[in-house]
Amino acid sequence: MTEKESKKKILGISDEVIEKCVRCGSCRTVCPVFNVTHEEPSVARGKIFLANMINKGNIKLDKEAAGIFNLCATCLRCAEICPLKVDYEKIIISARALCVEKFGLSPEKKAAVFLFSNRELLKALGKVAAPLTKIFTKSSKSPQNRLFPIDIPKIGKVLLPEIKSTPFNDKDRWYSAKGKEKGKVAFFSGCMLNNFYTETAQNVVKVLNALGYSVFVPRDQYCCGAPAFFAGDLKTFEKMKEKNLKTFQNLNVDFVVTACATCGHILKKEYNEPSFKTKELIEVLFENLEELRKWKFPQKVIVTWHHPCHIVRGQKIPKNYPLDVLKVIENIEFVNLEEADNCCGMGGSFKLSHPEISKEIQLKKVRNIEKTKSNFVLTECPGCVMNIAEGLERINSNIKSLHIADILATCID
Ligand code: SF4
Ligand code: SF4
Repeated sequence: MTEKESKKKILGISDEVIEKCVRCGSCRTVCPVFNVTHEEPSVARGKIFLANMINKGNIKLDKEAAGIFNLCATCLRCAEICPLKVDYEKIIISARALCVEKFGLSPEKKAAVFLFSNRELLKALGKVAAPLTKIFTKSSKSPQNRLFPIDIPKIGKVLLPEIKSTPFNDKDRWYSAKGKEKGKVAFFSGCMLNNFYTETAQNVVKVLNALGYSVFVPRDQYCCGAPAFFAGDLKTFEKMKEKNLKTFQNLNVDFVVTACATCGHILKKEYNEPSFKTKELIEVLFENLEELRKWKFPQKVIVTWHHPCHIVRGQKIPKNYPLDVLKVIENIEFVNLEEADNCCGMGGSFKLSHPEISKEIQLKKVRNIEKTKSNFVLTECPGCVMNIAEGLERINSNIKSLHIADILATCID
């Protein structure tokens, strides 16, 4: 065992990583969960203190401690503001991994991980559920989403993305560039765009083709592993990673595009594989600003933008990228959103495990959106699109929540 390895403690990380926290409390000023609960265990400082105690063997990991580690939307606002640059994501994932090792996954996380890591099951569910959802749910103002016909006690209106009977990537397909080919790319469409927002997935391809990229959509792509990773189920995560690497590493393309903030975060940071060069759609759009200046939306519209946590903090993509892109399109008037980079409350399975706190965070987000008086709120994360659409329904707003590809595809003849 090396000296470095011997310093690894109960959580699988060294004391140095944890003890970087000086308990200054800066993370309390930005944490959306703390903002609702006003309790120390909700914030990074409280969780890091607990992790330190466990790592030193001063206290044992029990179910109460596991509950504290789960009380986090992994929005990474704490890590962004931390003056000591404490690697909060590493600490919380290590803590959750230990919780999974000791107690297993909670029922809601188990269900989410099981469903998303079983591609064939999700496909079979789509075949059965797609016709039924049309009958038993109502349409929502934001397209590709469905509303439960009855309100849920303490939660209110509940919206789900519309599951499709056939996934977007049901077979290998090449989509040719429009005009002169600028490059060849593969599209890592992710579970949400593959099975629910399939029209958005088509729109991503349409936009890339119009910009001169030929796009390959491989059938053999799997969940990026984010639900398992953020839940601390690292074994399942590694399996998903291995399967995807097998497919994407051998493709003859210039790079891989994703249009899901969380997939992008995971592919870049956790796969960290040089042969799997990934770009988020918004990065490709920003590289093509000059071309986009020629694009025109069919009528005048006002739009605003929500920054997904996993784009601005997970991938550290500059905040001006989406704003610069939207500002060059003719007929689109861009208005700023207050606290545009604050979490929408989704946080993957956080919404399932802590629905009431998630709702409070969501309502703050959609009230700010409502103040913009825009026609559309755009973003580049299907989870955010869905959660914001639900929040807008809850406050009876007429603003529609869309993926940026849905608006841009409308500019193409
Ligand atoms: S901001 Fe950083 S150093 Fe300060 S309490 Fe939070 S995690 Fe610790
Ligand atoms: S990741 Fe977000 S929710 Fe979790 S402790 Fe940090 S600021 Fe709070």
